[in-house]
Amino acid sequence: MKKKQNKMDRRDFLKTIGAVGVGSVLPSCDAKAEPNDPNAVAKMPGPALPQVPKRKLGRTSIEVPCLSLGLMYDLIEKQIILRKSVELGISFWDTAPAYAGGNSELGIGKFLAKNPEVRKDVFLATKASGARTVNDVEKCLQASLKRLNTSYIDLYHGVHALTDPEQLTDELKQWVKDAKKRKLIRSFGFSMHTNIAENLAAVAKLDWIDAIMTSYNFRLMQDAKIPEAIDACYNKGIGLIAMKTTGKTIVSWARQDIETKEDKKLIDHFLQRGFGEEQATIKLVLDDKRISSACVGMENVAILSSNQAAVLDKTELTKEHFEVFREYAKATCSGYCAGCANICNPVLPDMPYVSDIMRYLMYYNTYGDKDRARGLFARIPREVRNKLLRTDYSVAEARCPQQLPIGKLIAEAISKLA
Ligand code: SF4
Repeated sequence: MKKKQNKMDRRDFLKTIGAVGVGSVLPSCDAKAEPNDPNAVAKMPGPALPQVPKRKLGRTSIEVPCLSLGLMYDLIEKQIILRKSVELGISFWDTAPAYAGGNSELGIGKFLAKNPEVRKDVFLATKASGARTVNDVEKCLQASLKRLNTSYIDLYHGVHALTDPEQLTDELKQWVKDAKKRKLIRSFGFSMHTNIAENLAAVAKLDWIDAIMTSYNFRLMQDAKIPEAIDACYNKGIGLIAMKTTGKTIVSWARQDIETKEDKKLIDHFLQRGFGEEQATIKLVLDDKRISSACVGMENVAILSSNQAAVLDKTELTKEHFEVFREYAKATCSGYCAGCANICNPVLPDMPYVSDIMRYLMYYNTYGDKDRARGLFARIPREVRNKLLRTDYSVAEARCPQQLPIGKLIAEAISKLA
């Protein structure tokens, strides 16, 4: 029976999700290639496997895979992920100098050094981690180019985790123009976790931002202001890349508390329909056609393959699916920080780090990314860290729309991250 190459029917999808050994589901294009040999990419005759579809990145002429690979981890020894991602068409790689102490970028550099012909097929994004001035941004870019073994970056996030649109200065705008002229970057943007609706709405007024990488998931969709702000950016031609798409909770106890109720209901609902929970969250985000790509951290080939299968699956999500997610988001909101720092910060004027600390705790508890969580926490000024346990969070807790037990979570963060 003939099948179009980029389509996977329902039966294929169920088989893939249920597969124990992904290697048996996704045979290599090159049967003779060593499984761990990154050079195998060079021997690939062409895209024999179904490829992730592409979407346009805002007003740019660039098309990007709608599923992108978040590479927050050490890639020096995990070259197989890069090779497999190219085979599956997940050739949009997102990294940063801060990831894995530089070993994410260095791992990509190692791969590109061995497989230089792959570079033209990869859409590579990195960030100016920690840059405060335009000079810092230039230095960060030059260092990333060296580590990545490339002469250009496809999407350069000149602000890593933007908190205030005022960080997008006229000086930075001039630098972007110049960096494009020097052919060092193809497009420019920033990443963002906080005050999403307000920041997106403000940035939609700018005409020099090509793309924004923003937290976006079934939880954030419940806040009507966020889809509205997404609309403003989309209409302006700004490409939108969704991250934190799975909407994971901060702490494991939040999940355990509800495991027998809403959590189980959600998981059962989607399993009965052939999706894993994570795959369903990705499909939901990509159901929004304004999103160019969903960036997901995928640390092994099994996750890579099952997420790709979910994206290729043609099953449409129905109103019923959206309703299940809405109910789930409501029932589990006290485990998720929505990054609305403009709500809790004003009542904690000496402590403008609550949403950051919640995110770091999520990295530690849910992502298991302990070193990164501790490293980020250590960057909070010492005088602020010293005050964390002595602060009264009751007013902030009363204002928090997610009803987070902020004081309890801060205490947990100190015990784990300090
Ligand atoms: S702690 Fe609550 S108010 Fe503060 S950013 Fe998180 S969700 Fe928003």
